[in-house]
Amino acid sequence: MKNLWSDNEAKKYIQRYTKDDVPIDLALRVYSSHLLGNEPKLVLHGGGNTSVKTIVRDVVDLETSVLCVKGSGWDLGNIEPAGLPAVRLEPIQNLQKLKTLSDENMVNIQRANLLNASSPNPSVETLLHAFLPHKFIDHTHSNAVLALSDQKDGEKICRDLFGDIMGFVPYIMPGFLLAKEAARLYRKDPSVKGLILLNHGIFTFAQTAKESYNLMIKMVSRAERYIKQKQFKSFLQIKLPIKMAKVHDIAPILRGVMHCDDKAMIMDFRTSPEIRKFVCGKQIRRYAVQGTATPDHVIRIKQKPFIAPIAEQGKLDKFARESEAQMLKYVHDYKSYFNRNNKRFGGEKTELDPIPRMILVPGVGVFGLGNSAKSAKIAADLIETNISIITAAESIGTYNVISEEDIFDMEYWSLEQAKLGNKEKKLLESKIVVVTGGASGIGEATAKAFKAEGAEVFIFDKDNLELKKTADLLGVIGLCCDVTNEKDVDSAFNTVIREAGGVDIVVSNAGAAWQGKIGDVNNDILRKSFELNFWSHQIVAQNAVRVMRLQNTGGCLLFNTSKQAINPGRDFGPYGLPKAATLFLMKQYALDYAQYNIRSNAVNADRIRSGLLTSQMIKERSKARGVNETEYMSGNLLKREVKAYEVAKAFVDLATSESTTAAIITVDGGNIEASLR
Ligand code: ZN
Repeated sequence: MKNLWSDNEAKKYIQRYTKDDVPIDLALRVYSSHLLGNEPKLVLHGGGNTSVKTIVRDVVDLETSVLCVKGSGWDLGNIEPAGLPAVRLEPIQNLQKLKTLSDENMVNIQRANLLNASSPNPSVETLLHAFLPHKFIDHTHSNAVLALSDQKDGEKICRDLFGDIMGFVPYIMPGFLLAKEAARLYRKDPSVKGLILLNHGIFTFAQTAKESYNLMIKMVSRAERYIKQKQFKSFLQIKLPIKMAKVHDIAPILRGVMHCDDKAMIMDFRTSPEIRKFVCGKQIRRYAVQGTATPDHVIRIKQKPFIAPIAEQGKLDKFARESEAQMLKYVHDYKSYFNRNNKRFGGEKTELDPIPRMILVPGVGVFGLGNSAKSAKIAADLIETNISIITAAESIGTYNVISEEDIFDMEYWSLEQAKLGNKEKKLLESKIVVVTGGASGIGEATAKAFKAEGAEVFIFDKDNLELKKTADLLGVIGLCCDVTNEKDVDSAFNTVIREAGGVDIVVSNAGAAWQGKIGDVNNDILRKSFELNFWSHQIVAQNAVRVMRLQNTGGCLLFNTSKQAINPGRDFGPYGLPKAATLFLMKQYALDYAQYNIRSNAVNADRIRSGLLTSQMIKERSKARGVNETEYMSGNLLKREVKAYEVAKAFVDLATSESTTAAIITVDGGNIEASLR
């Protein structure tokens, strides 16, 4: 591993932070935390922690010894001084005298000794940092160190490699007891430069930030060299069918199978030659099911993966049946694991959902699962890391981790669960939504409204520039797509599947207005309008039901029709005719797909400022009617201009009205001629 320390960079950190009265020690602590945190082979997503013991002045200007230690919720890669809360050192060091200390008391004492009451909770490993005497302490979950210590004879391998330079601590769950034992082992031989926490990670310590960081890189590099020198023993591979099913066929089936309590997860797909070797290993059911390489991964990806059956092209029904059966077994096993271990706690734990967070698909790749795209990504990152570690561990020996009891204790430890946060569930959390014509106008407002309800939103648009701008602005994913082109639409839907696993709600919104007196109009114009205002809706809906049927969890189609579909406007035939056909299309889907619990509804909007009704058009139309623009825009029963966000709200309402199909909501401020009978 490359040592990235630079004295020059370190100086820059000091200059930057001391300007804000941050002590030099803390500025350097931030610097080397960034170095560690940006190396995924050391830590990932909030893993690992660092500290510095220093002296600060409190509010009455008294010098106070403190431990600045990583706070919960911060990531070493981008931590700031505020993420390293200062805890009074002496009171927490005194805890060493105790024989036991409950988690609640530990958290309470740590919080009670914060200098700043609004700081985040100090790390669950704070006491370990406090009980060791060194000024700078670095802790990571290095892949290479884990590959060595996650072995049956892991301690021996580590002792042979590191000799007397490091101390060795057997696995104990983080918290008070681990801190005490680590400090005791250190005192037995104070010449050690760090500690290997078997099945967990590595600590290094020194009087300076640079030295502690150097030691970390040195020790990790030593472990990496050891692994490299060993003859690489590749996994024996299973034989696969010649033609494997595609990811976009497999993912929706799996997503549907994992569906639990009306909730499907977001899935993040990954593949690479290394991943495929791992998932095709003959002994996958031995090495892949033991548990995570370091215990805190368990809260994100659970102990065991779901190992999918073989997915052969053309045999998706078989794949779905076998996946279903396997999932029943997975859930059953998870419940038994919970009940078995919960007995030790007198039944006081509450069972977490039994849905797997890691899916391994032989011959294809892996999926990380989560309630949001963000947590699915974290899961997928951790899966890749675990695959790397297990692959290395198996190349030098036999991967072996802590016991089921220890894993359970970690998974159900309240302090670990607290890291996930208890956010209130949003209405459309983990729903995947596609909005066509999503770069502007009603489409943009609709994407925004679905996003606000917690959905993962994809917008399709053919205007690539506008698309990028809107996607960035709303924090959604933009896919460039001409909805009149079947290939484009097909491939955009497949991208959505690769990115998120499936589709739940599709708002077919893209449209444009063509005018002309119906008897005189050039039929090419009428055909062009039919392409966009009818055929694109059909192509989009066809793709949507293709995915929804694979998922087998229902779904919702929403069409932006128009007042024109009901009430023709003069010389507006080229626009109104295909819209009327689309309104009927909506009804046809409602009829034909209700048996699959796929609903189909439409919104009739009128006179909304957008790319379709531009300022120029508003000017012309109002002039033609002899009214001013405000009168024109509010020329309805309620005398108010209808806004795009109000149309968006109607789409969200229809998406969440579980008993409504074949319905049309009118959003036009009231127009009796266009009202439905
Ligand atoms: Zn740790």
